[in-house]
Amino acid sequence: MARRKKIYEGKAKILYEGPEPGTLVQYFKDDATAFNAEKRDVVEGKGVLNNRLSEFFMNGLNTIGVPTHFMKRLNMREQLVRAVEIIPLEVVVRNVAAGSISKRLGIEEGTPLPRPIVEFYYKDDALGDPLVTEEHIIAFGWASQQDLDDMVALALRVNDFISGIMLGVGIKLVDFKIEIGRIWDGDFMRLVVADEISPDSCRLWDIHTGQKLDKDVFRRDLGNLADAYTEVARRLGVLPQNGAPRGKPTLIN
Ligand code: UDP
Repeated sequence: MARRKKIYEGKAKILYEGPEPGTLVQYFKDDATAFNAEKRDVVEGKGVLNNRLSEFFMNGLNTIGVPTHFMKRLNMREQLVRAVEIIPLEVVVRNVAAGSISKRLGIEEGTPLPRPIVEFYYKDDALGDPLVTEEHIIAFGWASQQDLDDMVALALRVNDFISGIMLGVGIKLVDFKIEIGRIWDGDFMRLVVADEISPDSCRLWDIHTGQKLDKDVFRRDLGNLADAYTEVARRLGVLPQNGAPRGKPTLIN
């Protein structure tokens, strides 16, 4: 069989040419990296879990009218997505102080924020993805003021949706990162949520115990990362304990 054309390989995923023009296949690897890839490991099963979890969140967003690039899951590690022009910004939404905001502003981790805070980071590994302001973004032409307003609105809708879902299974959505892409339809452009939404890109804390169920388990050597992600998937019913994947009919009678 002819090998598919690889379009891009990142730290946790590979993008291949899709079966139709305007589509891509997104492959989830087991590689875990942190601190700009200074710390790295292979976590068996992580890619399978993130493929399922990202499918779950993106499907939900599509259903409530928040557009995403997600089309359908193809197999254990791959999903079919719309090809988008990625805006070179990481959009972070924070509900509770943790990670870089705690360090930068001296706010103790776990302090609830007065309102969700949206931040933008310029996607550039060589620079370590620096925090940028709307002034930088507009001056350097990465996005327009209208795009920014739309990106903030999208990010806050994603925040409300994922926060609500997580609350239902006893998990606090502390913060998360999304990437946003442009889809062109002639001269008309719309913004969609792209990349992935998974415990790799969120901070998730158990509401009662505070246990971390996200990539901080890897960053801070707190235990087995795949176990933490499996717990999130299990609570969401994405991977029931019997291992039967959701969406596949199960004969129970
Ligand atoms: N994040 C991410 N990719 C990055 C940087 C951050 O997915 O390259 C996520 C991270 O997992 C967390 C949120 O964005 O959920 C905020 O991260 P923060 O700015 O606190 O940086 P960190 O402490 O992870 O360096």
